Amino acid sequence: MNPKIIRDPTKMQQWALAERRAGRTLGLVPTMGYLHRGHLSLMDTLRPRVDRLVVSIFVNPIQFGAGEDLDRYPRDWDGDLAACRNAGVDVVFAPEPAAVYPEGFQTTVRVSRLTAGLCGAQRPGHFDGVTTVVAKLFHLTLPHRACFGEKDYQQLAVVRRMVADLAFPVEIVSAPTIREDDGLAMSSRNAYLSPVEREAATSLSRGLFAARKQFHDGERRAAVLAETVRQTIRDHAGAVCTLEYLTVCDAHTLEEIVTIDGDAVIALAAKIGTTRLIDNVILATAAEATATTP
Ligand code: AMP
Repeated sequence: MNPKIIRDPTKMQQWALAERRAGRTLGLVPTMGYLHRGHLSLMDTLRPRVDRLVVSIFVNPIQFGAGEDLDRYPRDWDGDLAACRNAGVDVVFAPEPAAVYPEGFQTTVRVSRLTAGLCGAQRPGHFDGVTTVVAKLFHLTLPHRACFGEKDYQQLAVVRRMVADLAFPVEIVSAPTIREDDGLAMSSRNAYLSPVEREAATSLSRGLFAARKQFHDGERRAAVLAETVRQTIRDHAGAVCTLEYLTVCDAHTLEEIVTIDGDAVIALAAKIGTTRLIDNVILATAAEATATTP
């Protein structure tokens, strides 16, 4: 069945309220559209766990910095709708920016320490934009559960923190990173890559997987693991790829660590040509800690 399309935030909230009053559970998958299998896996994760599934498609202007790719962010409304239909989505919520941020809007939701490093350090204001829109989407769609991908690991941690700190009655469910056959993490931004860049981009997951193997073989020194990632990327994609950051950090605080003795993540951001990509691997017990919980 075709999903119901709602553009008006007030109508979205009224629909969600009516469904809640009828005793149904609601799920939300927030996206910026140009849907791929990574997005679909979030829908598949939530679909059996809620009565009504809402997917939001909203390219959120306030999470893009000056000079970033807001204007050229890829869009495919018809493809997205077909994907949502196949995934059994009940409602596609696709508001206009002016409806989400009307004249006079001046509120920001901000998570502080968790946003200081990693992507937060490279993209000032980005996570303020994310938490502000996610908070608003939660109020408009009133979900019992919402699903986020581990691909955006810092975003997942930040959203979990916001939900705990502000007591949102929403269960945050996470889903693992979905990859192309050659390891590249799926991303709407992969559409920007030229064939040469697309090949070079595989160096990111290669490096992360090599370091993860080293970790499984017993290496616990963060610097050694980081160097493995760096070296792999240099060898495979040296000229085309510039690392923006590479960190081995605590999976919960996201603070850089020297020796791994608990849950950890290796996370990176890189420019492949002009395209900024992120990826990560979760090490050891952190994989269980962030796995989908009932
Ligand atoms: P985006 O449309 O890029 O804002 O992503 C919307 C949601 O999909 C976020 O929760 C992302 O973490 C998630 N997501 C994006 N790419 C992937 C992927 N390759 N695997 C799993 N989840 C993903």
